[in-house]
Amino acid sequence: MIFLGENSKVASTVKNFISSHRIPHAMLVEGENNTANLDLALYIATAAVCSGSPSPCGVCKDCHLAEVGSHPDITRVSTLDGKKFLSVSQIRELRADAFVKAHQATHRVFIIEDAHRMNEQAQNALLKVLEEPPQSVVFILLVPSKTMLLDTIISRCVLLSLLESKSDDNKYVEMADEFINLLLSGSEYEMLKLLNSLEKSRADAEDFFTTLSACAAERLKKGSSHARVLDRLFDDTKYYLDLLATNINMPLLISLAVSRSKGLLDR
Ligand SMILES: [Zn+2]
Repeated sequence: MIFLGENSKVASTVKNFISSHRIPHAMLVEGENNTANLDLALYIATAAVCSGSPSPCGVCKDCHLAEVGSHPDITRVSTLDGKKFLSVSQIRELRADAFVKAHQATHRVFIIEDAHRMNEQAQNALLKVLEEPPQSVVFILLVPSKTMLLDTIISRCVLLSLLESKSDDNKYVEMADEFINLLLSGSEYEMLKLLNSLEKSRADAEDFFTTLSACAAERLKKGSSHARVLDRLFDDTKYYLDLLATNINMPLLISLAVSRSKGLLDR
């Protein structure tokens, strides 16, 4: 029996769509560890074909077949021996295969290992079936990083990222530092432009303001000449986080944060 890895965010996403019987037609698993990517794909595949409950039950005939790698409704596609790339003809074959009804389970699952080894032509061939997937077919693409695939493919898939979120944290540290610099130079429009990308996601905004508060505290600790401003900014970030928790309209929150931050220099 395969268990879900330790990445709790992905694990809960996956458990959610399995328990609600809404397994997406196409998923993209990205992660540096091939084995972990494959384990996650096999877990989803097993859940998709399992005839027990809750799936994957680990005891039914389908789970057993999936575990030993011989379930007829789970197909793994990878580069052929000695080949560097997945060929267009492999993808065409997969596409034709996807229209064949499931042998015994409710779903058919295709796991495309090393999906980044598809050239553009192969990816476009796959795109056709991702755009109009046959009923009850699930595609799971495995890649070290989604950036190795065409945007058109990425946009058709639910992303399951096993990549460390370290790079994301860094992004916000950089962004928070830039925000403080813009604040100290009084560049209201630039601040607004910088925060614009946060409008779409409450979670991102929360990460940003949390990081901003840490950055302000860090600068205070180092003894900045702008201690008064940073001190107020630090208090303000708490206020923004409180507002975020109240379902405030995002563009409103961002313009409020920018105008208050601009005002910190005058206060
Ligand atoms: Zn089962």
